[in-house]
Amino acid sequence: MTRMLAIANQKGGVAKTTTVASLGAALADLDVSVLVVDLDPQGCLTFSLGHDPDQLEVSVHDVLLGEEEIADVLLDTDDNVTLLPATIDLAGAEALLLMRPGREYALKRALAEVAEDYDVVLIDCPPSLGVLTLNGLTAADEVVVPLQCEMLAHRGVGQLLRTVTEVQQITNPGLTMLGAVATLYDARTTHSRDVLSDVSDRYDLPVLEPPIPRTVRFAEASASGSSVMRGRKNKGANAYRELAENLWKYWDAGEPVRTSA
Ligand code: ADP
Ligand code: MG
Repeated sequence: MTRMLAIANQKGGVAKTTTVASLGAALADLDVSVLVVDLDPQGCLTFSLGHDPDQLEVSVHDVLLGEEEIADVLLDTDDNVTLLPATIDLAGAEALLLMRPGREYALKRALAEVAEDYDVVLIDCPPSLGVLTLNGLTAADEVVVPLQCEMLAHRGVGQLLRTVTEVQQITNPGLTMLGAVATLYDARTTHSRDVLSDVSDRYDLPVLEPPIPRTVRFAEASASGSSVMRGRKNKGANAYRELAENLWKYWDAGEPVRTSA
């Protein structure tokens, strides 16, 4: 059975893309077959996996509009994950999809054609709650919310949770909110911990283990288009490996997801 996980938060810069790229690479290292989906017109996931969005002829945009078969658009990557890439064309998909019936189901329908080839599909949602994110949440079985542990970082979480509830009521009754992942976490400060426990209490959100520490390697990796997971001693990469193991034990062996109290 294929597990489809959406990584969503309408706030930019909370490490959605980094989480999809790193978790995907870490799962692939566990011999899990992984498809990652770039739903952001900025194409940051596509770029960070070694493909220049400006050089691509076809992308998820054409798939959502029914103009290309998904299998013809998929790309291999050096991280051993398969990529459904995005280009700036996707910025126009929002408006084009809005005129179509069943617009929230376009990704779900496309993924159904290739899902059996993968154990896990990770969906990188854009920083908005528009029709692209609705497509991601409608296609997914589960959703995880990366939360940056800073003051005010939780503004908008309520709105995101309301959108998830609406998707559960309307397009995807099976969608499960798995919880938050603490990103850009600074364990040396009590501040990070306080913000995190405040948010998880207030919204009744479990927080998946472990938190992902802030490390300079990540910024370097996304700027150069090379995988952050290659640094074996990198604390951030190790945290994503632990998160991948946590999720895979849950998916594969049915163990409960490890969360902080
Ligand atoms: P989003 O997809 O939510 O907009 P990104 O994954 O693009 O967020 O991350 C935003 C920025 O933060 C990027 O420059 C990325 O390299 C950086 N970043 C992400 N995770 C970390 C981390 N653990 N430590 C340091 N920088 C990080
Ligand atoms: Mg992103």
